[in-house]
Amino acid sequence: MNKIYFVVGSQDLYGEECLKQVALDAKNMTAFFNERLQGKVRVELLPTVINSETCIEDMRKVSCDEDCIGVITWMHTFSPAKMWIKGLQELRKPLLHLHTQANEKLPYDSIDMDFMNLNQAAHGDREFGFIVARLRIPHQVIAGYYEHDDVIERMGRFIDVAKAIHFSKHLKVASFGNNMREVAVTDGDRVESQIRYGWECNYFAIGDLVDTINQVTDKEIDTKMDEYTSKYTMKTDNIQAVREQAKYEVGLEKFLAKNNLGAFADTFQDLHGLKQLPGIAAQNLMGKGIGFGPEGDYKISALSAVLMKMSEGRKGATGFIEDYTYDLTYGQELELASHMLEVPVTFAATKPEIDVLPLGIGGKEDPARLIFDGVEGDGIQVTLVDMGDHFRIICADIELVKQPKPMPNLPVARIMYRHKPNFRIGTEGWCYAGGAHHSVVSTALTREDIALFAKLTGTELITIGDDTTEAELEKLATNYYR
Ligand code: MN
Repeated sequence: MNKIYFVVGSQDLYGEECLKQVALDAKNMTAFFNERLQGKVRVELLPTVINSETCIEDMRKVSCDEDCIGVITWMHTFSPAKMWIKGLQELRKPLLHLHTQANEKLPYDSIDMDFMNLNQAAHGDREFGFIVARLRIPHQVIAGYYEHDDVIERMGRFIDVAKAIHFSKHLKVASFGNNMREVAVTDGDRVESQIRYGWECNYFAIGDLVDTINQVTDKEIDTKMDEYTSKYTMKTDNIQAVREQAKYEVGLEKFLAKNNLGAFADTFQDLHGLKQLPGIAAQNLMGKGIGFGPEGDYKISALSAVLMKMSEGRKGATGFIEDYTYDLTYGQELELASHMLEVPVTFAATKPEIDVLPLGIGGKEDPARLIFDGVEGDGIQVTLVDMGDHFRIICADIELVKQPKPMPNLPVARIMYRHKPNFRIGTEGWCYAGGAHHSVVSTALTREDIALFAKLTGTELITIGDDTTEAELEKLATNYYR
């Protein structure tokens, strides 16, 4: 179980009695958080900050504890913020500044100077807010009485995002082959993405993977086939082609485990030694939270793994997708999103069928793939692009819909969605923002999750949705050239 530390600020100006009360309130609040956030995270209280030394000690603990995903701070009394500078300089985990009080209501009849000195978050949290802003530390502020549902709910969101960042900082991504020839948007600065998100993106030879795949035994393939037939409907007679994919998946699982990898990218231009492009193998692995990017897209591979982690425990589907083609019927425009093969099984609304069909690209044998219709509901589409001097996240609100008619001749899985606020502004905005044709679609996450991730990682964010007006679009279009 991940943990998050709770650090409360005060000082010794108000006497021993006051500090005792601060410690007691903090202890009670910690117990309350642990009750309400049960199963999500464990909250642990650290010693009250009353000077620079305790702050340094607390923040070092937060930064160096491998199980710790972040820190919550709150100023019970006034806590002069120069005491916090050196401690905060040691902080390397997401910071939640909780702007709250131990008491919900003011005791109008009994309030005196002692009470006011003890309970002065309105004063102390502003002092703290200044120093965090002054130190340019990305963080979230949540204001409200700590027992209120909306505060707990927002704390829960922070924990999900902090967990995803923790995962991100440990994520290793394999690139089998390089970026697809000539493609721009899937490329990026791997040094910068490691600095900012922690992703260790390294090259692995496809030949080494093929060696691992070739060592997979018939028995291991049988076990994988049992998994396939227990979850999916076998529509093909070409069992040998499906067994080939089962072999790829077992080989990939071994290779990922051996190298401690949580995501990978491949390219159909570099599959030397493989008879098929990985289809079911990639689809099924994505269903287990493994990040995947086709055409060498390491960014979407890593981002999909991070966002799948963020959505853990929530209802809905999250995974990689590619923008493909439109239905441009006026006023009822829809997008059909899919890929050559590798659509994550997570998106399946119908029981997936295993089929073996030709692939009109790549010059390999007919690959086995899972075919299904996609889930419905409100969702988001998220991508990450490299603007040359910074990364940019684009997040668009979408509505996933049932496909209006069957597509019996389309041999791949697919999802369909409607853009917001409408097709024109939604897609024009995406193009102006430089949004990629690879993205992560999720019905489990919301714009608030992505905004928080962008905020805590210091990434530029552009959002598109029902609040995107014509004027916003124009602003986006002109700012684009700065
Ligand atoms: Mn693609």
